[in-house]
Amino acid sequence: MSSPNEILQSVFGFHEFRSPQDQIIDSLVRGEDALVLMPTGGGKSLCYQIPALIRPGCAVVISPLIALMQDQVDGLQLLGIKAAFLNSTLSREETQRIERQLSADELDLLYIAPERFTQAYTLQLLRSITVALFAIDEAHCVSQWGHDFRADYLQLSLLHELFPDVPRIALTATADQKTRQEILTRLQLENANQYIAGFDRPNIRYRIALKHNAKQQLLKFLKTEHPNDAGIVYCLSRKKTEDIAAWLKDQGYNAYPYHAGLSTELRAKHQSHFLRDEAVIIVATIAFGMGIDKPDVRFVAHLDLPKTIESYYQETGRAGRDGEPADAWMIYGLQDVIKLRQMMENSEGSEEHKRAEQHRLNAMLGLCEITSCRRQALLDYFGEPLDNACGNCDTCETPPQTWDGTEAARKALSCAFRTDQRFGVNHLIDVLRGANTDKIFQFGHQHLPVYGIGDDLDNNQWRSVFRQLVARGYMSVDLERYGALRLEEKCRPLLRNEVTIEFRKDIKAKTAKQLTKVQLAPDIDVSLWEALRECRREFAEELGVPPYVVFHDSTLQEMCLRLPDNMADFAELTGVGERKLERYGPGFVRVIADHLAA
Ligand code: ADP
Ligand code: ZN
Repeated sequence: MSSPNEILQSVFGFHEFRSPQDQIIDSLVRGEDALVLMPTGGGKSLCYQIPALIRPGCAVVISPLIALMQDQVDGLQLLGIKAAFLNSTLSREETQRIERQLSADELDLLYIAPERFTQAYTLQLLRSITVALFAIDEAHCVSQWGHDFRADYLQLSLLHELFPDVPRIALTATADQKTRQEILTRLQLENANQYIAGFDRPNIRYRIALKHNAKQQLLKFLKTEHPNDAGIVYCLSRKKTEDIAAWLKDQGYNAYPYHAGLSTELRAKHQSHFLRDEAVIIVATIAFGMGIDKPDVRFVAHLDLPKTIESYYQETGRAGRDGEPADAWMIYGLQDVIKLRQMMENSEGSEEHKRAEQHRLNAMLGLCEITSCRRQALLDYFGEPLDNACGNCDTCETPPQTWDGTEAARKALSCAFRTDQRFGVNHLIDVLRGANTDKIFQFGHQHLPVYGIGDDLDNNQWRSVFRQLVARGYMSVDLERYGALRLEEKCRPLLRNEVTIEFRKDIKAKTAKQLTKVQLAPDIDVSLWEALRECRREFAEELGVPPYVVFHDSTLQEMCLRLPDNMADFAELTGVGERKLERYGPGFVRVIADHLAA
């Protein structure tokens, strides 16, 4: 029987395990249970795929992500692994064929949807064969506390009783302590070994800028940094995803909308473009992304503020799963805060729930406004402090300047107070700057002592002051009166001159030149790179799989750097296992040899 290390090399073509993959695999092979917490892209799948090949019988993977099963299984079959799936998309005949294979012990891995799994018939079938292990993917779906709860998952507590001798591994990327505890109790995994991998995603560069003209900012970002890359653009509303997608199309990008209001067929079609074609941009609501297993997403752009840091981290985590540099780029403004606060207030749910939501939104706002390293703040939030600033986020690259905003804050607060806390930011700024608008005369605000006391700052600077006051909880948005700003308890000491306040200086967006980044290593020959991509595309088309299933970009880059023009050298590349060597080696080696001979 092969060791985990041998399988890693010969089947998957990887040179070493990422810690703690090896420990997890060993414990499963020994027959112990495990709970695995790893960020998206951390490499969770190998943790059960390798034990599946070592332990006798078939490993059963329970996953809610039906849409991905076909690609997952295709990918495994290309590696020479006997894999199959059972879900509602299969015909009766296909289902029966797979059930026969299962009974005849012809499968290494079976993916199955939870609703199928819990049917009496399926359970009976599984009890008649040798099950190597159970992997419960997206295990946080069992938690009612979390946001992806699925009732079918609750029944997975059956596993322990029905199959007491089969080891179980539960996997999730959700860090939250409460969810983790719920997984352990609901799945009866109290005795499982727990593996919590680092949450840092060092290859992702975090940037959060101020929104002034969303479309133009996005366009500039795409033009200068990702002219030819796959990425996801997140928006809050369905309508906006369609607008932005259409507009990007006009600008020459291959963009598609995605939201829960589109038909199932259309959603599947757009998702499939994203997975299979090169350089596709998906403009989506948060409905898109769960379990999207595309390794070469080069950027995730947020045009609207996510409600929580958890969502922000999960969404940005879809970038750069292949470990290559990727961007998490976001723009936000005061309007976002107002909109989100309103949505929350109008949402159903108890007062306690709403308070919890507000609390999470405040943490998200704090992340936007901090002047120190964003990664440190993020990891701190997840209980994993990072000793040094990261050097790969906007605040590290260009430390924001601050200014003493005590005086300005007091003026802003008094202005809201004197106008009875009934007006939104635009009117407050008009009053501060002594504008002559109808509204001012209508309410007689020209007679107030605060009228015109703020002409030392311009409109944008005042917006910045109000935004930061709201973001930091000195003011809140009155939801009864559309967008009116109110004073919060927290501003008392400020008004009483007992404390001072520092504000972040908003900077104008950087120039295109400063931002340009080299994607490929400098000594890569672009013509070879294109030829290799072409070769990969042909294989992918022939097999009906996405290009990255053939090889990741990183493997292609390695080909460009190491120029393996024979099979022995080709076998050394990361991501080249025996099966892929045999299948694609000759094709790629020929492209490289031709290139060298030219
Ligand atoms: P997750 O399910 O945790 O989001 P995956 O299992 O999809 O992550 O793995 C993410 C990517 O990392 C995949 O493309 C996978 O092939 C790659 N990968 C996983 N383990 C290793 C390893 N030990 N060496 C190199 N690449 C790896
Ligand atoms: Zn940093």
